[in-house]
Amino acid sequence: MRLKVLGSGSSGNCYILENDKEALIIEAGLPFTGVKKALDFNVMKIKAVITTHFHIDHSLYSLQYVQAGIPVFEPCRPPIKYSEMRFRKGNFDIRAFENRDKSGRWLHNNGDGSECPCVGFYITHPEMGSLVYATDTEYVRWRFNGVNHIMVEANYDMQFVNREEPNYEHRLRGHMSLPTALDFISTNDNPALRNVVLIHLSDKSGNPALFKQKTEETVKYGADVYVAERGLEVDMDLCPF
Ligand SMILES: [Zn+2]
Repeated sequence: MRLKVLGSGSSGNCYILENDKEALIIEAGLPFTGVKKALDFNVMKIKAVITTHFHIDHSLYSLQYVQAGIPVFEPCRPPIKYSEMRFRKGNFDIRAFENRDKSGRWLHNNGDGSECPCVGFYITHPEMGSLVYATDTEYVRWRFNGVNHIMVEANYDMQFVNREEPNYEHRLRGHMSLPTALDFISTNDNPALRNVVLIHLSDKSGNPALFKQKTEETVKYGADVYVAERGLEVDMDLCPF
């Protein structure tokens, strides 16, 4: 299984999990044409498309897949039916989890400050083991025992945030800081953790080299650490430990 990053961040998110026979598209924030090219036009192998929430950088192009007859799983697309949080296609088993705080408040926001429903995904595949994917949330309450791969937002670190800018706090709300991401990674670190991919870094308030270094210092069992950027590919096979 390989992870291919087509885009990560506010200008459009799209990731492909792919082996010889199957592919899963995570987020539809970039046009289908780019995905087709990345799959060498073998679109028949796409088992499903999944999106976390209904913001354009994550779901703008999901209709293109619907029109192509590809199963699309968007738990947060209105009207929301939270009863349907599990989705199985091919050998992919996908479970959505809600990123809310204990009082039920969603941990992501719209531009006007209102709450934006947003889920994370726990995905398993026999070749890959388990992957937890979480983005566009202030934090994740859940713990994932023995997880093999983590993809988590590390949007900003306060030392790189320009506090002179009007409403700077407003833009950080609903996103995960590096310290919170490191906390999440550390909580879920385990001997079977193979890869940690930091995603959705802010152009202005992130620092890829430093974020990677801090994460490498956090993982205690030697997981490989990457920062998602267009063109990145990561081997997601499950190693026999
Ligand atoms: Zn969003």
